[in-house]
Amino acid sequence: MAIPLANPKAQYLALRDEISKAVQDVLDSGQFILGPNVTALEAEVPVVCDAKYGISVNSGTDAIVIALAACGVGPGDEVITTPFTFVATTEAIIIVGATPVHADISPVDFNLDPDKIEEKITPKTKAILPVHLYGQCADVEKYEAIAKKHNLKLIFDGAQAIGSKYKDKGIGCYGDAATLSFYPTKNLGGCGDGGMVLIPDEETAIKAKSLRFHGMDATYSYQYVGYCSRLDEIQAAILRVKLPKLKEWNQARADNAAYYIEAFKDLPLQLPVPKPDYYHIYHQFTLRSPKRDELKAKLAQRGVGSAVFYPHPLHLQQAYLYLGYKPGDFPEAEKAAAECLSLPVLPELTAAERDLVVKSVREAVLELR
Ligand SMILES: *Cc1c(COP(=O)(O)O)cnc(C)c1O
Repeated sequence: MAIPLANPKAQYLALRDEISKAVQDVLDSGQFILGPNVTALEAEVPVVCDAKYGISVNSGTDAIVIALAACGVGPGDEVITTPFTFVATTEAIIIVGATPVHADISPVDFNLDPDKIEEKITPKTKAILPVHLYGQCADVEKYEAIAKKHNLKLIFDGAQAIGSKYKDKGIGCYGDAATLSFYPTKNLGGCGDGGMVLIPDEETAIKAKSLRFHGMDATYSYQYVGYCSRLDEIQAAILRVKLPKLKEWNQARADNAAYYIEAFKDLPLQLPVPKPDYYHIYHQFTLRSPKRDELKAKLAQRGVGSAVFYPHPLHLQQAYLYLGYKPGDFPEAEKAAAECLSLPVLPELTAAERDLVVKSVREAVLELR
């Protein structure tokens, strides 16, 4: 028995007939771009995330780019963000012409440490871009206080956090914008690329909607230099089949995580720490071990998939060395990259598979003592 970390095929097979019908209906309709499924998805996803407006785009990466651009971030601006995330977060800042300024993370929840932000603020700082990493909301109230005090825009990369909550409210109601990804292995994944920008303010939402379509405001009239970044009808139709299951899937992940936390509590591992007031949707179940690489190898021998998100912090990646950072600049991010390991927490896990993960981790950890 091999247990994968992600299994988009299993999710597809469970909904095969409904998805096939939805795709066939789009093909038969002949309307492939900006049709009724996109319109409906843009009404349905904001409800799940407590957002006012939702603008669908081509990918989660584009969602960050367009959120930044819609909030007026551009050349000459600095954006404070985390180096411990998927590359798209930093990349998007550079795509809009701004400069990423990294700050260190909290060792407990792996998110941008609110106490490390203010020392990075300069007259050029325009925005803060935290990530709700692994599916747990970052510390929204602390960031909001800093953004307000210094008159900065606040944009959340919520690619991993659709359906997560802070104080019973979804990620779409915090800050100036939040972004989603519909990459196939995300908690709500399509059969291709997709993303969405969630925005509370009407004027910003109108700008984002224009930006995803070449900056057009009326037919062949362009107010901004924009992007070609529309979600297509087939992806929207597939996502609409899956969306009604999201709540149940997120809860299944949370249940799997709770089971692991109980099963591993006596082991020398740093486990995710559930925080009161936060609903964690466990896009990843990520633990820490100083013997991470050995643990990963032992799990692989037992047929248990695991993965490292992320093995290198972005400030030390070749592409971003020009920003001028060096090893030691963000010790918590560097240590997290050396110690983190994500285990299978998929909603499709059976009880037997979950128990095999538990047994394998326990055996491996004891062997490594
Ligand atoms: C997946 C992801 C993205 C990018 O999403 P794509 O849809 O792959 O472009 C951005 N940020 C984070 C944190 C992600 O996990």
